[in-house]
Amino acid sequence: MENKELICIGCPMGCAMTACMEGGEVVSVSGNTCIRGERYARKELTDPTRIVTSSVRVRGGRIPMVSVKTREDIPKNKIFECMEKIRTVTVDAPICEGAVLVHDIAGTGADLIATKSVEKA
Ligand code: SF4
Repeated sequence: MENKELICIGCPMGCAMTACMEGGEVVSVSGNTCIRGERYARKELTDPTRIVTSSVRVRGGRIPMVSVKTREDIPKNKIFECMEKIRTVTVDAPICEGAVLVHDIAGTGADLIATKSVEKA
């Protein structure tokens, strides 16, 4: 048995939790105030994922960068590869909020989308 300490990110209370692990499985979770904490702990310790947010270069736009995010969570171990890909991307203005800028980024199955619009210069 091994104990893992983690903070729930489900709300501003930030409950400090302890998860008891055995053989890579979460056996129990304590310290959470509600069920969301237990769900978060189990997922974070067995299948951690994140939405990635960043920005990419814009060619011919009124601003030089556009904010972006992955449409869905991606595996935490793919974040570095995803950021490397984002660094290589340049898109042409105009860009509409919600437009897909990269399909299946880093083979995650998630699309990279614009989170704001950019007009042509
Ligand atoms: S366990 Fe519940 S109350 Fe505590 S931080 Fe998470 S969501 Fe908030």
